[in-house]
Amino acid sequence: MTLGRRRRRREMLRRLAELDRLDAAAPPHASSAWRQPPSYAVAAPPRRRRGALVPLVVTLAVTGGLLWVRTAATEQVDHVATLLSPADGRPAPAADAMASRLVPLPIAPGGSGGYTSVAENALGPATWDPCRPVHLVVNGEAAPEGADAILREAIDLVAPAAGLRVVVDGPTNERAQEGRPAMDRARYGNRWSPALVAWTTPSRDPRLDGDTAGIGGPLSVEDVTGRLRNVSGIVHLDGPALTEILRQPGGRQAAVAIVAHELVHLVGLGHVDEPAQLMHPSNEGQTGLGDGDRRGLARLANTSCARGV
Ligand SMILES: [Zn+2]
Repeated sequence: MTLGRRRRRREMLRRLAELDRLDAAAPPHASSAWRQPPSYAVAAPPRRRRGALVPLVVTLAVTGGLLWVRTAATEQVDHVATLLSPADGRPAPAADAMASRLVPLPIAPGGSGGYTSVAENALGPATWDPCRPVHLVVNGEAAPEGADAILREAIDLVAPAAGLRVVVDGPTNERAQEGRPAMDRARYGNRWSPALVAWTTPSRDPRLDGDTAGIGGPLSVEDVTGRLRNVSGIVHLDGPALTEILRQPGGRQAAVAIVAHELVHLVGLGHVDEPAQLMHPSNEGQTGLGDGDRRGLARLANTSCARGV
């Protein structure tokens, strides 16, 4: 390693820290208690005329937030919550849905850290069914070395705290794209598309442009009770950026934290303005879940088996 390279790395870390400070100062909301920033609201699906053909994906709710950033202080969005309209084109009931939860309900720790949910309606936050596995498929077109182990480690961090069994089904040739369909019968059969973890590039998903190292979020649909249920989703990771991060001292932990942060978006939490939480919009060195993150995940986990999705 040359001195020049080291200097560039120091410069990058310095700018990162600078940006973190900027970011920490940006959203003015209080953080000691759970709250729902208006920007996280998901618009209600439009009324559907009977018999009319409507697009399945109705709403793309985005939250403002600076992501796990690398350089410039531009506004970035790193999580998306997509809401499907009811009734149209639902797949067959999941064959592996059980009558009771698969993983013990996590215990919410004490502390004062906050959390937010990424999608919510009057009945509560959008949650995954704790009684069936969350399926992931992985596209590795721009994966850094050791990507599978990094993903595994991030899953092992998030899944027990979320009270979910997360299963990696294996690789897929489905590449990251904006507006991913909720179902892809040719690839995955008559079911919701498994959540896509894509090690990809900003050219494939422009939402990874600039400072955003990853983007994640669930796809939700109302179940028969009107509750929002997450049935699919995405985690898109900037492969070249993570490859660079992995070259830094402590880079592996940072990479695991970035993937875990996006997985927590997939599970259903949004950002909080507290640097000690993994769900702070930028990373200030936190590598594990904070008390607020854990309480938020425990709240999402505390739900019944989903019906009718
Ligand atoms: Zn985020």
